[in-house]
Amino acid sequence: MPAVTDAVVLRGCLAKMAVEPGSPARYALRAGEARLDLDARLGRPLRLTWTGAIACTHCGRATRKSFGQGHCYPCFKKLARCDTCIMKPELCHFFEGTCREPEWGERHCFQPHLIYLANASGLKVGITRATQVPTRWLDQGAVQALPILAVDTRQQSGFVEVLFKEEVSDRTNWRAMLKGETPELDLVAERDRLLERLAGGLANLRERFGGDAIRPLDEAPRTFDYPVLEYPRKVVSHNFDKAPEVAGTLMGIKGQYLILDSGVINLRKFTGYEVTVEA
Ligand SMILES: [Zn+2]
Repeated sequence: MPAVTDAVVLRGCLAKMAVEPGSPARYALRAGEARLDLDARLGRPLRLTWTGAIACTHCGRATRKSFGQGHCYPCFKKLARCDTCIMKPELCHFFEGTCREPEWGERHCFQPHLIYLANASGLKVGITRATQVPTRWLDQGAVQALPILAVDTRQQSGFVEVLFKEEVSDRTNWRAMLKGETPELDLVAERDRLLERLAGGLANLRERFGGDAIRPLDEAPRTFDYPVLEYPRKVVSHNFDKAPEVAGTLMGIKGQYLILDSGVINLRKFTGYEVTVEA
């Protein structure tokens, strides 16, 4: 670890990095109220040290362990955003009257959603609230993305995604994503191929939810570029739970990962961890 000169020191609980598209995307590390723009930090030493404290991102209470990316156990059991149906929207149980937070559900799940194809480590399908793009794609480290269908609720997007999973993965291989060796895909051709193969399944869903429920989109593919000086040949990951100090030269940022010459760290995984940041 080279000496840190003219150091900036921040202290606070980690939040997801803020990111804006650009050539390349612009990232800011967020710790409590503090923000550190990372563009100017590329190629320079960076050290994050976990103090040992974790605060729930929802209620602020101290927790010994983080559940569901930054929650205390009571919030993890109580909040709708931590329920299984967020990861698997087809299991939405709002209509059974058992939504953990019906008002939150109305605001977040009964909103327009998109089904998209993306390329972070190969072709994948995903869903997102319409308002979350392009951040959603940047958070995944996607280099390409194309919205293909629009629906009115999260649950409907879940059913469509389940159908697409017969043909295409919904996962990103984060090691491959971080090596930066992702061949370019023709997402428009992939869309047309998948819509044709899955036409029968889509017709069934339209029968169930209404002819106008699943609407094809004719959008242009997007491409994304990340601030990376050099991709790692071998991906080694840091973990605050195992070693509280993470230090090295910042070689890049992609998705929610910092790429240091000493290894990578997924900051999203450590949401709520109180750290000091020296840069
Ligand atoms: Zn809490």
